[in-house]
Order: sequence, then structure tokens, then C-alpha cells
Amino acid sequence: MNHPAPAPVTGPAEAAALVDRLRATFRTGRTRPLDWRTRQLSQLRALLTEHREDIADALHADLGKPRAEAYRSEIDFSVREIDHTLEHMEEWLRPQDVDVSATFGPAAGAGTRYDPLGVVLVIAPWNYPAQLLLVPVAGALAAGNAVVAKPSELAPATSALVAELLPRYLDTDAVAVVEGGVPETTALLAQRFDHIFYTGNGTVGRVVMRAAAEHLTPVTLELGGKSPAFVDVGLDGAALTETARRLARAKFANAGQTCVAPDYVLTDPATARALEDALARAVEELFGPDPAASEAYGRIVNERHFDRLSALLDSGRLVTGGHTDRATKYIAPTVLAGVAPDEPVMREEIFGPVLPIVEVDGLDEAIAFINDRDKPLALYAFTDSAATRERIAAETSSGGLGFGLPMAHLGVPELPFGGVGESGMGAYHGPHSIAVFSHRKARLDVPLGG
Ligand code: NAD
Repeated sequence: MNHPAPAPVTGPAEAAALVDRLRATFRTGRTRPLDWRTRQLSQLRALLTEHREDIADALHADLGKPRAEAYRSEIDFSVREIDHTLEHMEEWLRPQDVDVSATFGPAAGAGTRYDPLGVVLVIAPWNYPAQLLLVPVAGALAAGNAVVAKPSELAPATSALVAELLPRYLDTDAVAVVEGGVPETTALLAQRFDHIFYTGNGTVGRVVMRAAAEHLTPVTLELGGKSPAFVDVGLDGAALTETARRLARAKFANAGQTCVAPDYVLTDPATARALEDALARAVEELFGPDPAASEAYGRIVNERHFDRLSALLDSGRLVTGGHTDRATKYIAPTVLAGVAPDEPVMREEIFGPVLPIVEVDGLDEAIAFINDRDKPLALYAFTDSAATRERIAAETSSGGLGFGLPMAHLGVPELPFGGVGESGMGAYHGPHSIAVFSHRKARLDVPLGG
């Protein structure tokens, strides 16, 4: 059934030939049966488990990603998502009936069913280069599509590994990997896809959406932004210590290069003082006195991002961290206090291991601060108060909302994962991946009578 891997895509002609080939497979109906989808997902799972160590090695080569992190947030995460989909896919895909008005007669029926879209393009970023490629690919396959997967050129080891492995495990008539950067992606974007699923920054998101408009291709844009973490007035003692631990764990995982990492903390001046100390202690608990020597701490992806981040370290007052080493692309887990809203570190998404604390006088000002800015991908709050949680939920808008445990909402596959406004459009994971990669077709069935 599988043919040898096709020639690499270097320009629009090869991209067009590739999409034509995959579309021809789609038109045969081969990708529609549940058996084919199940087989592809099982194979993807086998790829992840049989090459667990190879993938962890590649992630380490690309990002200095600690092994435990590579397992947790990329490999095992993807396996869990696939397992959940394999378990529930049949039920999610089942056609649904709706009530029909009596005007159509007593025997009329109506409902919806999910149709696969056709050929889907998945463009992934470098920060979780395995998970953010393979989980959308799994969703597109579960929905019965053919797929072109474009890994990030900024994670070259992972990109090369995926390009080598995917054709060995999946149906190469229906799934292809295209490696490369801007020229290759531009060639792909000139083609007519039936859906484009892009994860990355908003500038390229706009490029993708413009290209998609040419063909009226629907897009999912999984973007980023500054995700705030509000720490409630007067939180103290064990609750504050635990807040600092959870903030530090989320912020400094993958050296801060996580789209849903808490970008900055909002709290009142008195709580800020106590939180500064607690954060410094939490960083030491996680990475020891010298994080550069810790196996649990990653590195910055490249010199460009290293230089960009190094320029952000002068904002506010240094609480902990601040050390850098360009040769190893190391930036220490850094906490900055008393940061003013107009300082450089507050002007753009940080996407690195720098945590500014911005002071507000309480919940009202925090909500106003959040609503004055772009809608974030995630919003976090640490509070004992149900009333405060309800106000935050009701009075702000964000892709996701996490009380008490940053980033963990991604691990609940029944929750849609996606942004709103500047943080993106569309959402996936679990049943939401089926929805995003399918067309929900309406059906009305009126008997001819007689
Ligand atoms: P990146 O530079 O790897 O870019 C993402 C993809 O876009 C790559 O495959 C790349 O080849 C392609 N690309 C780059 N320039 C292009 C161009 N001009 N035309 C066409 N394609 C192009 O990743 P990045 O954008 O640096 O990733 C970081 C951003 O992604 C952050 O803003 C982060 O918050 C966001 N992000 C969001 C999520 C999410 O799930 N919402 C996840 C991870 C990262």
C-alpha cells in the first residue's frame, strides 16, 4: 500500500504535485473508514513509544529539553491525547439526530454528521516541536483527512526525525512531511488546502490567513500573547508558597518558551513582597543554587531569541536570576519585581524565563489591566475566593482560564485548547479536534410517502 517517499518540496510545482497526490488518495475514500483512522492513530502511537528515546534526544539537541520534560510535555502528552481519541473516536464521530418540525410529516428525520474536509496542512512551531505537530496531525487523521505536516525549521533535529519516521509508520499516500522554512511554507501556502492549522506567532498567522483567503480555506490559528497570572490580595502562608511553586514550575518549564506559560504576575504591593521571596525559594527548590548545572532546566532555542531575551532583563528590580551565557544559550530563571507596565519586558510576549511582577491595587485594577490589553491565550488566578474566581471568569476574555494550576488545562482533552482575538481562532484537542478538522453536515430526510 505504501509508496516510496516523494521528492522533497522545494517550490510551488512540487507542492502542487504533493497536494494533488494526497487529494487523489482522499477522493478514493480510503481515509474515511474508521478502521483506517484507527490504524493511523495506532501507528502514530507506536512511533511515539518505539522512538521515545530518539524523540527525547532530538528535543534535547534542539532545545536542551530535559528528558523528563520531553517525556511529560511532548511524548507522553501526545500518547495520552491519541489514547483518549482512540477510546472515544467512534462515539464522537457518530451522526447526531435533531428534532424535526411536524410540518415535514411524522416520518421525517434530521441530524448532523461529520464529513472529513480533504487535505489539511499542519504548520508547527519550534517550542514543543513534537507535540504541536503530532497532536494536530492525530486530530486531522481521526477526522479522516489526508495531511501535510510542516515541522519547524528552528527545531531541526526534531524536524528531521519526524520526516524520517512518519512515512515509516503512516500511510504515505495520505500523509506527507515537508521540511523547511519560509520558501517551503510559502510554496505550500500557495496551494488549495481544505484546512490550514497553524501554531506560531501572530505575524506569520496573518501571512497564513491571507494565503488561505485566496482559496477560501478555513484556518485555525494557535497563537500566543502575554498570559497574565493574578495573585489575590492578601494571599499568604502555605497558599502563597504553593502559588510561587506552581508559578515557577509553569513559567520556567522549557526555559519559559511555552505559549501558555504565565507571562507576568499581577498583584498588590504587599502580596508582591512576600511573593518575591517565595518565588526565589521556589526557583532554588526546582533547579538548585545554580540552574545552569541543573538537568531539569532547558536552554534558549537560538541566538536571536537569546539576544532578544537578554535585552529584557533590565526592567524593574532583580529578585533572582539575571545570569546569561550566550555560548550555551543559557538564561537563568529570572524574577523581576516592581516592573512598570511600559517597560520593554511588558511590551511583547516574553517567551523565555523572565517573570515580571507588576503591581496593581487589587482585583478591579487587575481586571482593567487585563482588559486594556490583547486577549491572552491563557489567564491564571490564584485565590481562595469563589467570588473573585467568578468575577474573573465573567469579566475577562482569554483562550483558557486556569485557577490554581497554570498550563494544566491543556492536559484535559475534553477542554478546547485555543485562543481568542490576538491569541488565535479555533480550538482543538479531543473531540474539538474532530470538530475542527471536519465539516458538520446538516441532513434532512423527508420520506416520499405513498
Ligand atoms: P516558528 O518560528 O517555528 O514559526 C512557526 C511556523 O511558521 C514554522 O513552521 C515556520 O516555518 C513557519 N513560518 C515562519 N515564517 C513564515 C513565513 N514568513 N511564512 C510562512 N511560514 C512561516 O515559531 P514561532 O512563531 O517563533 O513560535 C512562537 C510563537 O508561537 C509564540 O508567540 C507562541 O506563543 C506561539 N505559540 C502558540 C501556541 C499555541 O498552541 N497557541 C503554541 C506554541 C507557540
